[in-house]
Amino acid sequence: MDFSSDTAAPAHPAVIEALARVNEGNQPSYGNDSVTGDLRASLARVLETDDFDYWLCASGTASNALALSCLCPPTGAVLCHEEAHIARDERGAPEFFSGGGKLQLLGGDGAQIDEAVLREALARIDPGFVHETPAQVLSLTNLTENGTAYPVEQIRHYASLAHEAGLSVHLDGARLANALVHTGATAAEMSWKAGVDVLSLGLTKTGAIGCEIIILFGQTRSKFAELKARAKRSGHMPPKMRYLAAQAIAMFEGDLWLSLAATANQRARQVSDALCRHSGTLLVHPVHGNEIFARMDDGLASSLREAGATFYPWPGGSYRLVTGWNTPETVIDTIGSL
Ligand SMILES: *Cc1c(COP(=O)(O)O)cnc(C)c1O
Repeated sequence: MDFSSDTAAPAHPAVIEALARVNEGNQPSYGNDSVTGDLRASLARVLETDDFDYWLCASGTASNALALSCLCPPTGAVLCHEEAHIARDERGAPEFFSGGGKLQLLGGDGAQIDEAVLREALARIDPGFVHETPAQVLSLTNLTENGTAYPVEQIRHYASLAHEAGLSVHLDGARLANALVHTGATAAEMSWKAGVDVLSLGLTKTGAIGCEIIILFGQTRSKFAELKARAKRSGHMPPKMRYLAAQAIAMFEGDLWLSLAATANQRARQVSDALCRHSGTLLVHPVHGNEIFARMDDGLASSLREAGATFYPWPGGSYRLVTGWNTPETVIDTIGSL
């Protein structure tokens, strides 16, 4: 009954077993080991391309901030939703890592950027006008911060609008697996095939210990040396990188990451159905992934807590409940019996 966050969940046993398997003998450091090398083949299969470079770090904040710092100069701006994790939950890391690049916040329902708002922001860009900070990157999030999924067509459409205006496209995929399961899109379709230049692919929330992959596609591979330099400078060059790579290989093996996300998504739907059977429950956003945003009456919220559930109140008077790969099916009956 822990619905506080998917980061509260333990790692999947396959990840722990993979760590034990690579815990053998000496290996070169700083990403030059054979396990980090082997990850290329796993990623090539998952991403259906060889045209990428990758880097591993232990938190999504580092992954986003490093990725964006390679795309946005100190004098530029990143367009993102006003509720984006990079804007609300990273303590200024994107601005810090880019040396002063700004975030330009855009509105839209369900933490999804509204198309008219995006078009207006893109039309305003005038790099020749020295007083304003020109946007150089569009950052999208999937799943979004409201637990909804952008369909792949919309990512593709927004990426093409951004590219036409000369911007690069970053995708924050801290919960990418949940969005892929919901939409039925492949990781390739949701990333480079849709025009994403740089992907922050998260595996921590899905079931790893701490494993986030920055992936530079196509032309942005020219930034790889800079990415590594920035990773080193900011303290995100794990000396024993094989242990991060082993987590990723285990998660991609047999598409474990997608089946774990499928379980988490299914539990979220079941929990939200069970909550909605209690009168007074109202979903604030549709449940596409593993997050539920709901208004509940006080009685239900306190009976849930008395039954041992943990979850957070959310701004605007609702609650957020998050499921994970290990949320047991028994919670549904427990919620039903309240
Ligand atoms: C959780 C999350 C991150 C990464 O957060 P860390 O706590 O730094 O790992 C990034 N983006 C989104 C949308 C998230 O939900």
